[in-house]
Amino acid sequence: MKIVVLDGHTLNPGDLSWEGLHELGEVDIYERTPPATVVERAQGAQAIVVNKVPITRETIDQLLPDLRYIGVSATGYDIVDIVAARERDILVTNVPTYGTDSVAQMVFAHLLNLTQHVAYHAETTRQGRWSESPDWCYWDYPLIELVGLTMGIVGFGRIGQAVGRLALAFGMQVIAYDAYITESPVPGVEMVASMERILRESDVISLHVPLTPETKGMINTENLAKMKRSAFLINTSRGAVVNEADLAQALNTGVIAGAGLDVLPVEPPPRDSPLLQAKNCYVTPHISWATRSARMRLLNAVVENLRAFIEGEPVNVVSR
Ligand code: NAD
Repeated sequence: MKIVVLDGHTLNPGDLSWEGLHELGEVDIYERTPPATVVERAQGAQAIVVNKVPITRETIDQLLPDLRYIGVSATGYDIVDIVAARERDILVTNVPTYGTDSVAQMVFAHLLNLTQHVAYHAETTRQGRWSESPDWCYWDYPLIELVGLTMGIVGFGRIGQAVGRLALAFGMQVIAYDAYITESPVPGVEMVASMERILRESDVISLHVPLTPETKGMINTENLAKMKRSAFLINTSRGAVVNEADLAQALNTGVIAGAGLDVLPVEPPPRDSPLLQAKNCYVTPHISWATRSARMRLLNAVVENLRAFIEGEPVNVVSR
């Protein structure tokens, strides 16, 4: 079987092994593939593995009759025209979960940054600020204790629940809102019936919803105005859940106190993206998923998905 990995670099920049895939066939691995060269590179392949390169109806048609399988090396599979794949009887799989704990950890990396600014204080210490300080210590931001603060979680699925457990361990009060879950699967977390309570009561809001027509832009000027002025917003879900111009304005005018964002509506963002320069706003380049442990689980799942397909008992199928 000819297998083509179209954009393998972010999954395995060199610290993991593609060995499992090599055991399944003849494999071509590309670090990145411009959309215009997908057809040329994947010509003759029975299986392609893809992360972010769009696989359109036209591409699928040009890869017939050889193409039988598309393995998405991610949870979200909106890059593949699923309808076209289904019509052509091409099986598409995804990896439903691999990074839950890594993403939950990143929420706290951002939250601890906002509450204690460890890297900033270490860096200014390195530059001599402490040595030159007239006092025996200094700090440039309010230092905030988490115990007793309220964490409001929006979307209480896999990652939201993992965040809830960590928040409880930090001694926080935890409330959660989910459009489909009304009883808390995590003891100690109170489910609330509306976003209103999350917005008004939370000291920290952490977003864990998928991007859908309902969630797109759900954090906007109107909702930001309902939050406490001292509140922090953490977004590790999808960038477009937040209206970026509205959030930038809220941060710059003190409507809320700070934000930690791992995702933006356009990735990579244009240099003039308003949140990159917003006040007390910390943006990381979509890396919550990318711990070595999580990528190893992801790569293993990509291999096992393809193996199951070859053995005639496919798993994690999203094209039916
Ligand atoms: P999940 O499907 O387990 O949970 C999502 C939850 O959101 C579900 O419980 C669902 O009922 C709820 N929900 C859906 N629509 C809602 C709405 N309108 N209002 C309130 N709740 C709603 O998903 P997950 O695995 O926990 O992932 C959560 C998010 O994290 C997704 O957006 C995913 O794309 C993102 N993610 C980001 C990274 C990263 O690296 N930053 C990595 C993995 C996942």
